[in-house]
Amino acid sequence: MRDLAAQLEARRKQGLYRARRILEGRQKPQQTVDGREVVAFCSNDYLGLAAHPKVVAAFRKAAGVYGVGAGAAHLVNGHTRAHHALEEELAAFTNRERALLFSTGYMANLGVAQALAGRGDHVLEDRLNHASLIDAGLVCGARFQRYRHATGVDLAQRLASLDATGERLVLTDGVFSMDGDLAPLPELARIAEAHGAWLMVDDAHGLGVLGATGAGSLEHFGLDARRVPILMGTLGKAFGTAGAFVAGSEALIETLIQSARTYVYTTAMPGALAEATRASLRIVQDDTKRRETLFALVKRFREGAARIGLRLMDSITPIQPILVGDSARAMALSDQLLEQGLLVPAIRPPTVPEGTARLRVTLSAAHTRGQVDRLLEALETAHEAVAPD
Ligand SMILES: *Cc1c(COP(=O)(O)O)cnc(C)c1O
Repeated sequence: MRDLAAQLEARRKQGLYRARRILEGRQKPQQTVDGREVVAFCSNDYLGLAAHPKVVAAFRKAAGVYGVGAGAAHLVNGHTRAHHALEEELAAFTNRERALLFSTGYMANLGVAQALAGRGDHVLEDRLNHASLIDAGLVCGARFQRYRHATGVDLAQRLASLDATGERLVLTDGVFSMDGDLAPLPELARIAEAHGAWLMVDDAHGLGVLGATGAGSLEHFGLDARRVPILMGTLGKAFGTAGAFVAGSEALIETLIQSARTYVYTTAMPGALAEATRASLRIVQDDTKRRETLFALVKRFREGAARIGLRLMDSITPIQPILVGDSARAMALSDQLLEQGLLVPAIRPPTVPEGTARLRVTLSAAHTRGQVDRLLEALETAHEAVAPD
């Protein structure tokens, strides 16, 4: 038997120990964690909908109608009118024939890969994909490869060298969760099409944020369902609720309903949650001001950070990491910011590649300009420590 305590202690010494903080109350920029008042720059609540009064009211009202638990899987009798309406609205929102709800994004990714690929098939993934996509590729039993980050030529060469048999499934984040950059989707779509491969985009961080109507990375690039047949979106980020969906053709969705194990063998998300998500979808679509506010803050942060000389990454999104390099130093910096009442987590290996530890700043439409300025001032004070080796 492994000596778990000794292994944990070794992890602690390496500066890789992860610990949770306790949040009091709702998700919003000004919050109390571990008894301390902070301004948080780390949530994925990009539009400030997690505690929006209309979303909360919809949830509360729907709980009166649907109760709390769904009580069964979708295929048994847990699929309520609210789930069904949300699926239809998400299909219309993403301009696809159908959409299918999953309980989490992690499960959606596992379910799609397992339903479409297995032994004798091929899964190709961007090296920096989210862990849930990587796990989906590994667990489904297909032959698995990773191509160089956001590099179409590497993907094309790998596809060209595969034997002729088997399905080919290309999986990519739309917006990379730890870097904030976009996948070169038009190029990936062209390559996938040329090689008869499925292309699936996980748009957890693009949905609600990018595109004129908030429909995400695909809208940003003007790509339709023909170019990108499989779209996965999560509801726990810009939508401010929880859960996920896959959108695509009628045949794709029916295939998932029949055979995606993470769909079939799990309890449906609460109907009231689906109803709350319908309210947040309306805000995502109608309240374009939130996206304008968000991108004005992104611009303010990037300009301020450039003035200070911080090392930012190539990101137009609300994910604005500051590259530090060394894990211990990233931790020290994060601690220093926390002393000043600013919650900015250090992201370390194995979540990101060795030597690329960073402070992962995320911005939300719920932040004020004053809060962003306060972060910039604190970063300026800590600049010496932040400067790259
Ligand atoms: C958060 C995230 C997921 C997982 O979604 P959950 O609903 O939180 O399970 C999947 N993919 C990406 C890119 C994510 O950022």
